[in-house]
Amino acid sequence: MIHINEELCVYCGACVAVCPENIIDLIDTHLKIDQPKCTDCMKCVKGCPIGVLSMERNGKIYAFDHPDRGLF
Ligand code: SF4
Ligand code: SF4
Repeated sequence: MIHINEELCVYCGACVAVCPENIIDLIDTHLKIDQPKCTDCMKCVKGCPIGVLSMERNGKIYAFDHPDRGLF
């Protein structure tokens, strides 16, 4: 499951553009992800320029730290 820190999102649309499944929609200032269709590829997590997306899998959170963008 992808988590969005909505307070920090700047609605740039970069995550929408990189999702290979085309399941992210940006409507005005609301980001909607069709979670059941998500393949956990993390391309949106890596593609967000300010690192506000993270992925939860098996109880662990995966994200890219900004600005260093190291996986933790
Ligand atoms: S993890 Fe992959 S499939 Fe899921 S929303 Fe992000 S880019 Fe799309
Ligand atoms: S790439 Fe990041 S900042 Fe841009 S719309 Fe997606 S979550 Fe928001």
